[in-house]
This record gives sequence, structure tokens and C-alpha cells, in this order.
Amino acid sequence: MKPPRFEYLRPDSVGAAVALLNEHGEGARILAGGQSLIPMMNFRIAQPSHLIDITRVPGLDAITDEGNAITIGAAVRQSTVEYSPVVKDRCPLLVEALKWVAHEPIRHRGTVCGSLAHADPHSELAATSLALNATFTVVGASGERQVPAVDFFIGPFTTVIESGEMLSSVSFPVVPAGSGYAIDEFSRTHGNFAIAGGVSVIQLGADGKVASATLSMFGMASRAFRAFAAEERLIGSMPTAEAIAEAADLALVDVDCSADMHGSEEYRAHLGRVYAGRVLTSAVARAQGGSK
Ligand SMILES: Cc1cc2nc3c(=O)[nH]c(=O)nc-3n(C[C@H](O)[C@H](O)[C@H](O)COP(=O)(O)OP(=O)(O)OC[C@H]3O[C@@H](n4cnc5c(N)ncnc54)[C@H](O)[C@@H]3O)c2cc1C
Repeated sequence: MKPPRFEYLRPDSVGAAVALLNEHGEGARILAGGQSLIPMMNFRIAQPSHLIDITRVPGLDAITDEGNAITIGAAVRQSTVEYSPVVKDRCPLLVEALKWVAHEPIRHRGTVCGSLAHADPHSELAATSLALNATFTVVGASGERQVPAVDFFIGPFTTVIESGEMLSSVSFPVVPAGSGYAIDEFSRTHGNFAIAGGVSVIQLGADGKVASATLSMFGMASRAFRAFAAEERLIGSMPTAEAIAEAADLALVDVDCSADMHGSEEYRAHLGRVYAGRVLTSAVARAQGGSK
């Protein structure tokens, strides 16, 4: 199918992009990599009147090492991040997460910020931003605001970005030395959207107990989410197999799992607990230095 008619606009600054968003209102949409938006337009699920292409806005194509965080501009392609030596060195979990996103040709066009703004409940990057406590910079006519990942995703394909606003960058904190991290998922074939998956970052104290833990899940519910009850079970405990199993059992207590053609609620809940256990186990092993 072909998309409905639309006007194509290419601003040369973030300010101009925001002005166009406000000028054209609800019908205006940011065009980043187009890997989600264009198929949605072809299927007539989305019918924007104006597409505002931000991929050539100067400054939005930068990956910046801030010392304690890596900031990724809204026009940075997923593959640029995937093959960035800086990101590999400072935020390797992000590189591992990107390997699970779609296929190489799609990652050459798709952007990291586009995936986050799209807020697909199956998004590996959304869950990774949650596990890493990323910060989103959202820009509108009245200026910019910083939004923590835990507040950014509010429902299926819905974020706190309001009409007239855009995401200009996202900052992923550098994982402290000695931390362990892991991402894993189940999908029918590699590159397909996940039916269930998890991401975890674990830091151990000098006594071997869990000093900090994050666990986020994706593909399971109406949005990617943090599994706070599971995290709380582990923090302050020795990360034994028993403690991890108990934490994994708590991973889904705060959500209703989705059902669709790929699996029932019960199937997803089962997979979710399995994958929560796997990523927690792998993250702990890495933190202990047992696996690189
Ligand atoms: C076959 C296929 C398989 C895929 N598999 C996966 C997968 O396994 N996992 C996964 O996570 N994704 C998957 N994707 C989606 C892919 O990762 C997309 O690239 C991504 O979701 C959207 O990024 P984009 O830059 O292409 O955004 P676009 O398609 O350009 O935009 C997507 C939406 O976000 C909005 N948007 C984009 N950028 C901004 C911004 N800076 N500010 C505000 N709004 C913005 C747009 O207006 C639009 O509504 C797949 C896509 C395809 C085609």
C-alpha cells in the first residue's frame, strides 16, 4: 500500500523543528529513521499531514561522552551506536541490546531516539533505558525538560512527549566498573519482536551482597517496565540461586501480561519469569567476574 498524502518538511535546527510541530499541531509527526512510521503510514495506521524530517538537523547526529553518561542525539542511527567504540567501551549493554533489535538493514536507518519515542512495548531499547536509568531530553516551545526513563513510558506507543514536543537526546549512565549486566529475549526468529525479554544491571558490594539491582522486562505487557519487587528482593542479599529464583518469581507481580497471537497471558508470564531469572543470573555472574 501507499501512504496517504503528506507534506515533507526538513528543518535545519531543533528550534525550527519544534516551531513546525507547533504550527501544524496534531497532524505533524517527527520523521527519524522511518522504520516504524513509514510502515504504519503504508498500512494507514498513521496518517500524518506533515512529516518533519530531523535526520539532517546539525548537532542531533552526535554521540557525546559526558564522563558519567553517554548522550545520543535524536538523529543517531542504531547501527552508528552499535559500532561506536565509545559506546562499546562506556556502555556495552547498549551495544548488546542493539544486536537484538530487528535486522542490520533496519538498524542502519532506525534511530535510538526514534525507537524510544515510538515506545513499542516489545522494545529492547526501552527496557535498556529503564535498566540503565537513562534520562530523556524533551524539547518544546517553552524550552527543554529532563525526564527519567521510569517516567517516560506511559502506555503502548505512548510516552510523556506532548503535542508540539520532540525528543532531542537520551543519556545513558555509564555502568560503574565491576557491575554486571545482561539482556536476553525469546522471539520466534532472531530479529523478530520479542515475545518476552529482560534486562538487568547488578552491582555487588565488597561483601559480595547485591548493592544495587535493576531489572526491566519487555514484550510482556502494555509497556516495558521495571520489576521493582524483584529488585528489592535482591538488594542487600547474597545473590544465590535461591535468591535469584525468588526475585524472578516477583518480576511480574505488578503487571498484567498481554495475550496475542504469539502467546497467552500464562505463556508470557512463564517466559517472563524464565527470562528474568536468566538475565539476573548472567548479570550476577558478570559482576562476580565469572563471565565476560
Ligand atoms: C521488520 C522490522 C523489525 C523490527 N524489529 C524490531 C525489534 O525487534 N525491536 C525493536 O525495538 N524495534 C524493531 N523494529 C522497529 C525499529 O527499531 C525502528 O527503527 C524504531 O522503532 C523506530 O525508529 P525510527 O528512527 O525508524 O523512527 P520512525 O519510524 O521515524 O518514528 C517512529 C515514531 O516515533 C516518532 N519519533 C521518532 N523520533 C522522534 C523524536 N526524536 N521525537 C519525537 N518523536 C519521534 C515518530 O513521529 C513516529 O511516531 C523493527 C522494524 C521493522 C521494520
